[in-house]
Amino acid sequence: MKKVIAIVNQKGGVGKTTTAVNLSSSLAILKKRVLVIDLDSQANSTSGLGLSTKDDLKSIYDSIIDNTQLENIVQKTEIEFLDIIPSSISLVGAEVELISMEEREFKIKKLLECKFIDDNYDYIILDCAPSLGLITINALAAARSTLIPVQCEYYALEGLSNLFETIKIIQTKINTYLEIEGILLTMYDHRLKLANQVVSDVKEHFSNMVFETIIPRNIKLSEAPSFGKPVILYDVISKGAISYLNLAKEIIQKHNNL
Ligand code: ATP
Ligand code: MG
Repeated sequence: MKKVIAIVNQKGGVGKTTTAVNLSSSLAILKKRVLVIDLDSQANSTSGLGLSTKDDLKSIYDSIIDNTQLENIVQKTEIEFLDIIPSSISLVGAEVELISMEEREFKIKKLLECKFIDDNYDYIILDCAPSLGLITINALAAARSTLIPVQCEYYALEGLSNLFETIKIIQTKINTYLEIEGILLTMYDHRLKLANQVVSDVKEHFSNMVFETIIPRNIKLSEAPSFGKPVILYDVISKGAISYLNLAKEIIQKHNNL
């Protein structure tokens, strides 16, 4: 069965897109068939996987608002087994247009319920915007699990209780199947005492929810997007590439190697 993972944290700049791009690339390198859906109007995972956001590509906006089927929007990437549904700036409007629509929380869930998705993908990775607006709610309604990146810095835990409250509401009212895939510590710098403190705080609070893999701060991870490449195609032996490959292996193992 397909595994839909929403990468969520309403805090900005914590590594959601970096994780969406590099986790999905790593899963694809490990021969899983992966689809990334870019749900952020900033379209960073679209450009990070080498697609131009200036071309008049059809985007997830067309699916959410006009019911264009995903198979008419999907694009290939440089990596075999990795496809993407692009985003575009027009997605800003969708947040407002959705408000008056019927079943407005379930647009993405409905789009994913089709033969094209069932036949072609093992993993669907949803890259969310830094917001708990209607599109993120749609992602949580469609997902089987959420992956929550947390940056190893002073305000790391800020906002997490809001996020967990939202997830609890979704679990009781909208999507009883929603699980926590895990909390992912990102941008870890072992030289900083503070970063080590954050790691032990997060592990103490959330113990078994925290991924074993910790993503280090690594310059290659921040350079790769400007070349429109996941880090694995930019510098395969970098610490960033290796750590996202480890995360992919950890997730595959968790799903019984499926
Ligand atoms: P937003 O909330 O705006 O969507 P985000 O949570 O998706 O942000 P990213 O865009 O992935 O966060 O990361 C924010 C910035 O930090 C980017 O410039 C990215 O290149 C950089 N970055 C992310 N992870 C790392 C890392 N492990 N090492 C170095 N730089 C990183
Ligand atoms: Mg992002």
